[in-house]
Amino acid sequence: MNLYGGKFKMRLNTKFGKYGGTYVSELLMPALEELEAAYIRSKKDRKFQRELKMLLKEYAGRPTRLYFAKNLSEKLGCRIYLKREDLLHGGAHKTNNGIGQGLLAKYMGKTRIIAETGAGQHGFAAAMAGAFFDIKTEIYMGTKDIERQKMNVNRMKLCGAKINPVSLGSCTLKDAISECLRDWVANVKHTYYLLGTVAGPHPYPSIVRDFQKVIGEEVKEQILKKEKRLPDYILACVGGGSNAMGIFNAFLKEKKVKLIGVEPAGRGLNTKFHGAAICKGSPGIFDGALSYLLQDKHGQINESYSISAGLDYPGVGSQLSFLHDSKRVRFTAATDKETLAAFRLLAETEGIIPALESAHAVAYAIKISKGLTKENLIVINLSGRGDKDVFHAMKALGGKSDEN
Ligand SMILES: *Cc1c(COP(=O)(O)O)cnc(C)c1O
Repeated sequence: MNLYGGKFKMRLNTKFGKYGGTYVSELLMPALEELEAAYIRSKKDRKFQRELKMLLKEYAGRPTRLYFAKNLSEKLGCRIYLKREDLLHGGAHKTNNGIGQGLLAKYMGKTRIIAETGAGQHGFAAAMAGAFFDIKTEIYMGTKDIERQKMNVNRMKLCGAKINPVSLGSCTLKDAISECLRDWVANVKHTYYLLGTVAGPHPYPSIVRDFQKVIGEEVKEQILKKEKRLPDYILACVGGGSNAMGIFNAFLKEKKVKLIGVEPAGRGLNTKFHGAAICKGSPGIFDGALSYLLQDKHGQINESYSISAGLDYPGVGSQLSFLHDSKRVRFTAATDKETLAAFRLLAETEGIIPALESAHAVAYAIKISKGLTKENLIVINLSGRGDKDVFHAMKALGGKSDEN
């Protein structure tokens, strides 16, 4: 049953400044228009919003805590709060988007979900939604990533999703995205494309931001309760940008709050091994939209690299591209080495093992803390938990991990 049927034309702004847009095959335009119309309706639909709120609370475990990290604060000499998205069901913020879009697919009457994944985190969130809403789900994943991310592949399979291996190009995320779009063109009628971050063609950047913005809305309420004022800094790691937009969105108009996105500098911004689309990239068309991206002088997409598979994406969201140009959000980068040190420090001081993605934001907090005092307030978006990274990180730290 399609509660949101009918004929539509794009009604919202499709761009953020010059960024975003719908640079896709004409064959996809009707699907994007249908999606936009459904998304507008869902925002006004009280039943949809009530159901979403209930699921985020009862199934996913919202609100997540805003935790004052006392030990880390003492060590670094400023007041640090962690937004605990790592405690969300599924272990990362991606669950917010999986549930939101899964519900939208249900209201649109779609009988099949497809999704792309790199590290498998989003693939798992999509598979979780497929299981929960009882919609057949297929995940496109590069063969190289399937080899590297066995645990997430198994998690997706357990939830009943079918994995479609992609052995084209570099056999990684960008090839999985292309295959996913190809599938969608052929099957738009009954298939919902559940995109994983605030990138891709309009309306995805707005949809994913809106399903993630609950993070920042909670932070605002929580910090006002605990500190009676807004923070000086909010830090978030940036892959495609969904956890960053999620926590920044509620603060865009609070000009005193410094918003900082931390990209993966990998082995260094002067090497080829990084994933810093804004710090080192330039505007271009990728994944159906105009945004900053890593490209060579012929406009070919460069491979990205990061120690954290979830930040290994050559592009970045269109709204973040715009917020960079307008200087509302500042972008910086943390190297693998700085990230590993932060990963270890948070585990040692607080007994919290962050995802390597999130550890990039912690690394930048360590860096800026040197110029701060006990009066300064920092909120770090702890986007996910680090269980998935334990073996890899131990090896990289030069320690011996005990395999079981
Ligand atoms: C996927 C992922 C990211 C990066 O994606 P964004 O869209 O930039 O948020 C960050 N942290 C974790 C834990 C992830 O799984």
